[in-house]
Amino acid sequence: MSGKADPRPAGEGTTSRTRLDRGRGALGPALELVHTGRAPTRAVLTAELGVTRATAGAVAAELEALGLIRVDARPGAAAGSQGRPSHRLSVAEDGPVALAAQVHADGFRAALVGLGGRIVATAPGSEVVDADPAKVLGSVVAAGAGLLEETGRRCVGAGLAVPSAVAEPEGLALNPLHLAWPAGAPVREIFAEQVRAAGITGTAFAANDVNLAALAEHRHGAGRGSRDLLCVATGHRGVGGALVLDGRLHSGSSGLALEVGHLAVNPEGRPCHCGSRGCLDVEADPLALLTAAGRAPGPEMSLLKQADDLIRHQYDDPEVRTATESLIDRLGLGLAGLVNILNPDRIILGGLHRTLLEADPDRLRAVVADRSLWGRSGGVPILPCTLDHNSLVGAAELAWQPVLDDPLGALV
Ligand SMILES: [Zn+2]
Repeated sequence: MSGKADPRPAGEGTTSRTRLDRGRGALGPALELVHTGRAPTRAVLTAELGVTRATAGAVAAELEALGLIRVDARPGAAAGSQGRPSHRLSVAEDGPVALAAQVHADGFRAALVGLGGRIVATAPGSEVVDADPAKVLGSVVAAGAGLLEETGRRCVGAGLAVPSAVAEPEGLALNPLHLAWPAGAPVREIFAEQVRAAGITGTAFAANDVNLAALAEHRHGAGRGSRDLLCVATGHRGVGGALVLDGRLHSGSSGLALEVGHLAVNPEGRPCHCGSRGCLDVEADPLALLTAAGRAPGPEMSLLKQADDLIRHQYDDPEVRTATESLIDRLGLGLAGLVNILNPDRIILGGLHRTLLEADPDRLRAVVADRSLWGRSGGVPILPCTLDHNSLVGAAELAWQPVLDDPLGALV
């Protein structure tokens, strides 16, 4: 009998199951609210969903039965509070995980990530990237499969972050400029094959690393609450950008939007691998800083770490200071152009750009304000990214998305 034809008056014979039938459409939104920390209690969940207390209770109970969240019916009352505290909601500590994988210019890494963007386990990072994508992706998936075996966790799917634009719908890594991979490698298909071959269930996804960092920061980090979030970051090499609009990544018509690395910020600058000259990619990345400071890059650690350490520990050295300021000015010029075009309500910076911001926040903010068109643009908050391994957490978000969209459909 359909709910519509049910002749019983509302409220009569209402079991938890029939309440949930009405609330099933609320399961996904409810899970997303708990996942992103926006519904810490059942009272807040009820208000956010705009449903009755009974429906919110049934929805929370079903998510708990699915092993996704924990409902604490007897939380300790906050000091000085009166009345009975609302049931506390949190993601299940021992719930399912997504397999997250990242490949960058200096190596690769695998991790298991639970709801709430929590990294449950990581495999030691490798520092070699083979020119054959199938070999690298095979190794990173094997590392992830090892973690799944060790922890015994259920896996909802897998996500991969790569330092390249990923063309949709085919999932091709179009410009892995800092890897020796062939341009146009079908990374998503290769990754999906390796995931299947390792016996891991769930769908496999792949996307650009900075896009994924932005998504993770929007849900769990410095981008929370922003409506038009612009993220600009250095990977280990080069510069990437991403835009999150109303909670979803803006990836353009074929996944290639926000290639901010090839915005020219120095017309007389050094040649870029894209064929142009003076792009952010070569003027504001870790190698650019080391070169500007007159330091020869060493082989012993990643360029990102070397550049970061230089600013953090040798900022008193005039050469380092001048190089840092020159990179801040170029980055600011690029950000000002992006502000004029995109009108974001918040900018977050990752990788070396976060270190540049922290070295001299006033200088960077002044360049952006001076060079952008709208008076108000001077007021766009510019903040550092706050999550460790945000590209890995973002890769997991891709794998979690089907569960967030329809928890019952994805898990039962
Ligand atoms: Zn370029």
